[in-house]
Amino acid sequence: MKLSRILSNENGISRRHANELLASGRVRVDGEVCRVGAREVTRFQQVCIDHTIIQAATPAYYLMLHKPEGYLSATVDDQHPTVLELIEPALRPHLHIGGRLDRASTGLLILSNDGLWSRRLTEPAIKLPKVYRVTTAEPIAPEAGKRFEQGIWFAFEQMTTSPAQLEPLGPREARVTIYEGRYHQVKRMFHAVGNRVTSLHRESMGPLRLDPTLAVGHYRPLSEQEVSSIG
Ligand code: URA
Repeated sequence: MKLSRILSNENGISRRHANELLASGRVRVDGEVCRVGAREVTRFQQVCIDHTIIQAATPAYYLMLHKPEGYLSATVDDQHPTVLELIEPALRPHLHIGGRLDRASTGLLILSNDGLWSRRLTEPAIKLPKVYRVTTAEPIAPEAGKRFEQGIWFAFEQMTTSPAQLEPLGPREARVTIYEGRYHQVKRMFHAVGNRVTSLHRESMGPLRLDPTLAVGHYRPLSEQEVSSIG
């Protein structure tokens, strides 16, 4: 929300008085004087007039979880355990998932309460690379890499997937990089080339790599550098 709106709309200050407060340097955002009413301020930032807090900063959470097999990427479910159950109870109500993984899939899962930030992980238009280690039921066909690079037609969504890369790691094993996160995307891409995924592990999403020291089922906050790498 614009700073001028936080001052006037939310706090009953007239627009004119808000402009005077801004011009005289009495308004601070996260401790820094701000004179620009058009500045976008999030709920994670503190706004003060002199020494009075008029918007307290909501704590922002950015977590990396090493998702185990068998957990649903959902907040509640009455049949299966959810990834939220792996997170300390006090944080659970605040969090959403930035890019789901299927129940059987493992690896990097991001949770946050900052919707604008996590949308940058998942927004198809941003084309953030997501890297998966895949094992398959059948040997991976030599032409699979070319088919993935050309894009696979998804009839349900009436779209062709963005060019994806397949790096063979063994006869039934590969590293696959995709740029969207359609429902069961990697599984459906392998299905389209006559194969079946038997395990799927997400290694990274853009610059965020699964921390190799993070045990399965454990999580940690992202560093400031990791958070700002999603810009
Ligand atoms: N593609 C899939 O098929 N499943 C996942 O969990 C992630 C990507």
